[in-house]
Amino acid sequence: MNKLWEEFLKNGKIESFPVIDVHCHMGFFYGSHLPYIEPEKMIERMESVGVKLCVFAHHYSLFNPDIGNKVVIEIVKKYPDKFRGYCSINPHYQNNIKNDINSYDKLKDVYVGFKLLPDYHRVPLSNKRYQIVFEYAEENKSIILTHTWGGSFYNGENEVEKILKKYRKLKLILGHSLHNCWDKAIEIVKNYENVYLELCAVIDERGVLEKFIEKIGSDRILYGTDFPWFNHHYYIASLFGAGLSENEIKKILYLNAFYLLKKYT
Ligand SMILES: [Zn+2]
Repeated sequence: MNKLWEEFLKNGKIESFPVIDVHCHMGFFYGSHLPYIEPEKMIERMESVGVKLCVFAHHYSLFNPDIGNKVVIEIVKKYPDKFRGYCSINPHYQNNIKNDINSYDKLKDVYVGFKLLPDYHRVPLSNKRYQIVFEYAEENKSIILTHTWGGSFYNGENEVEKILKKYRKLKLILGHSLHNCWDKAIEIVKNYENVYLELCAVIDERGVLEKFIEKIGSDRILYGTDFPWFNHHYYIASLFGAGLSENEIKKILYLNAFYLLKKYT
């Protein structure tokens, strides 16, 4: 048993370094019981497990164009040590996107990148409605976290490759790592330098994380949980359960995200 695991079992948290979760949400979600949806409740949970920073896309920003990203700006300004935001993009409201991009540069203390949810919004990743975001991100080498799912018409492997062939400078985080198309996710990481895999929902299938580590190492794997949808303790413990070394776990939970977000935090 490695020392980090001992620490986690004994104290119920990671204390050796500050964990960064790059895939979080916040706020009420229709039809779902999520007990920790307010920032204060989320902070309590984060502190209980050693998560220093959550990078989040608010549910209201993704699904309620009247509220949009202003709720993210308010929360990050209130809790700058705990949260950073993704600027959520709803492709059905082009004027909102233009306004968000215009104010993006002035909000460097709030945003670390953009969040896309093509499956939910029913607009494929390569559709021109996202073009303004990709062009901005390419020019500024910005981060884009997109939901991805293997076989999806909207954000599956074909759509992801269309984007990566065109845009080589932006940094694309594949949320859920093209779930269930694991070999393709590995191939994509080998072929494109500007892409990262994110672990939310990946560890619901045993052996996948081990396969990622064996084939592509741990440098471009990021810790993400969809918190408050999923539980930090479970996700951290899964890394230990997969038999990863302390060094690999530290990279996934902290260092990879730290370097990726360095200019923002
Ligand atoms: Zn998400």
